[in-house]
Amino acid sequence: MQSSTRFLPHYTPEELATIQLDGLKWTVRHAATGSDAYAAKFRDAGIRPEDIRSLDDLRHLPCTSVEDLRDGYPFPLLSVPERNVVRMHASSGTTGKRKVLTYTQKDVNDWMEMMARCYELAGLTELDRIQICAGYGLWTAGAGFQLGAEHFGAMAVPVGPGNMNMQLQLLVDMGVTCMCSTASMALLMGEEVEKHGLRDSLRLRTCIFGSETHTPKMRQRFTELLGIEDSFDISGMTELYGPGAGLECAAHDGIHYWADMYIVEILDPETLEPVQPGEVGEMVVTTLRKEAAPLIRYRTHDLTRLIPGECSCGLALPRHDKIMGRSDDMIIFRGVNIYPGQIAAVLGDFDGISSEYQVTLARRDGRDFMTVAVERAKGAHSGGDEALATAVGQELHRQLMARAAVQVVDHGALPRSFGKTRRVIDDRENGCAAE
Ligand code: ZN
Repeated sequence: MQSSTRFLPHYTPEELATIQLDGLKWTVRHAATGSDAYAAKFRDAGIRPEDIRSLDDLRHLPCTSVEDLRDGYPFPLLSVPERNVVRMHASSGTTGKRKVLTYTQKDVNDWMEMMARCYELAGLTELDRIQICAGYGLWTAGAGFQLGAEHFGAMAVPVGPGNMNMQLQLLVDMGVTCMCSTASMALLMGEEVEKHGLRDSLRLRTCIFGSETHTPKMRQRFTELLGIEDSFDISGMTELYGPGAGLECAAHDGIHYWADMYIVEILDPETLEPVQPGEVGEMVVTTLRKEAAPLIRYRTHDLTRLIPGECSCGLALPRHDKIMGRSDDMIIFRGVNIYPGQIAAVLGDFDGISSEYQVTLARRDGRDFMTVAVERAKGAHSGGDEALATAVGQELHRQLMARAAVQVVDHGALPRSFGKTRRVIDDRENGCAAE
């Protein structure tokens, strides 16, 4: 890591703990006095702001959930006078009512500081040109990447998603060095770049991927197709400002998150008790300085784990693992809990297949069946399909305790999309819907 950093903070563990406790006390007092919804929640739980004396007292606070956001529509958890609000963003609202989140100017400033840290951690400089292929408008993604790029001092190329021809033209003509998109979109772009023989005209060095994680195998594919040097997952969600809540470092061993801005707890989604250190559970976040819509023990439904120990990159900020799926995406297959991310991890160990996959669940004669379709690696011969399918099936069984029929299909046969690719098709009559 660079010895002098403009945005990344350096804290001792004691300094960080002090910042977190001060932020927690401030947030609880702020929410209790500014928001009727929070005040009622604390009253019901029998807790007063002055009861928060240590970081351990966090566990006495009630959780907030997506229902709290919906109940408070259109301005849920609003904890400041309306005149202090300068902006709103909303999530796509594919499930039920839109989640609307509000921002004060200080919230916007904190958000762009977080994003600037991400660009610094990704190794960018003010000379970088950042093509932003994420959604603008109500969505946080485009706005977040752009605010951060300008605050950081790099040049933003604000394209938005889709429109492949324009994307390719700008990548080449603007001499773009960094692309921010979903991993699915980068794969599409890479395949177009290959088709048009544009790789040598690109100056791309870095990709930053939001909203879906990418595997080492995908990173290798992006390096081949786009000529990049490295790629990083960025974390974030609308509720927590937007993208930029943390970033992978070059060690690619988890995501450093801004623990001076929010606290992460990992809880068992059933009992809401903390899991053992290093175990997978639901990420629950508490903001430390968010004014307009503070989050107190907000259940993200994202599954991950905290990574113990110090990172080899030397950055003294804690890490969580990549998001392994949503607690809502959990597939219950013959009594076993499976997350799509676990299937991706197993497939990532095989050289003969691409990074694309699709899971289909069916029910026949009252029994569940799972088929996992994988793509033969580019240029590989179909003669090895049977042995490959058997090996993948055995490894899925060994690691996930689930038997799946593995089907090897031609390279490029599985659907690609601009956004999150739909990985699970659940055709069981009464099966829980999985995305
Ligand atoms: Zn690191």
